[in-house]
Amino acid sequence: MTARIIDGKIIAAELRERVAGEVVRVQRDHGITPGLAVVLVGSDPASEVYVRSKHKQTQAAGMASFEHKLPADVAQADLLALVARLNADPAVHGILVQLPLPKGLDTDAVVNAINPAKDVDGLHPNNAGRLAGGLPALAPCTPLGCIILTKTVHPSLEGMNAIVIGRSNLVGRPLVQLLLNENATVTIAHSRSRDLAKLCAQADLVYAAVGRPEMVRGDWIKPGATVIDVGINRIPGEDGKTKLVGDVAYAEALEVAGAITPVPGGVGQMTVACLLVNTLRAACAIHGLAKPAV
Ligand code: NAP
Repeated sequence: MTARIIDGKIIAAELRERVAGEVVRVQRDHGITPGLAVVLVGSDPASEVYVRSKHKQTQAAGMASFEHKLPADVAQADLLALVARLNADPAVHGILVQLPLPKGLDTDAVVNAINPAKDVDGLHPNNAGRLAGGLPALAPCTPLGCIILTKTVHPSLEGMNAIVIGRSNLVGRPLVQLLLNENATVTIAHSRSRDLAKLCAQADLVYAAVGRPEMVRGDWIKPGATVIDVGINRIPGEDGKTKLVGDVAYAEALEVAGAITPVPGGVGQMTVACLLVNTLRAACAIHGLAKPAV
């Protein structure tokens, strides 16, 4: 039996629609338009694509979108001054500084300068700490998306065995915390873990966030498990062009798993949708409103 394919495109579109509905409600009842400011430093082509997509989707959800483009050789002090202005701007509820920053800029200092209440990327240590402490926090968008995708298959994750392969601050670590909040039992694997195949074989939920093309093989996966592939890797294709693959050997896993996310068309679709969720949540929290329905 082949696995059910978890269609990130459809699920993200539904989520964006629900966000747009809540934006209408917040505007109508409270006169507030959630606003997202995105800061792009330099001209990395991949980052430019992401920023354009964020801008389009923010506007489509009825939110205000503010774009700030700075040259790659901007002074650290000028970047920090922009962040300070955005922190103080009442029209801005979410601030995202597109990473990676060009060499010479201090990423930690920039992230730490963002008002935690507006930290829609969820990378500020206050939010990371609150999440780790089981307190309400703005959580990073990609792991949030992973949880939403999983819940389309398993509405409750309570008591399920999950493995998270990868422990980055952006994906693996916050994903572990979100899974704990859902009462899953979590194994965290990384480059020093031994016998990944054996660890994976015990998991009902497999999250691969490694950055190694097709590392997780089909025969590592417990039959019927749900597989969420965060990896985005560009490899040479048969036609001489490049193609995108995940961290999971998709064709093999499809034959064993119960449900699986494709790459592309899985987790990647959810990240920007969750950015909109975080911006809406931040706007409501900043204005003392109840948590929105998404
Ligand atoms: P990262 O910061 O490079 O972290 C990779 C993690 O994988 C590290 O914790 C590393 O372990 C672990 N690892 C490396 N080799 C391993 C191995 N052989 N066995 C087990 N673990 C290993 O990457 P990231 O930012 O978390 O991103 C991971 C992947 O997700 C990348 O492909 C990235 O492009 C993708 N991504 C996708 C989205 C999306 O929207 N879909 C968003 C973000 C990232 P150590 O800690 O021991 O070094």
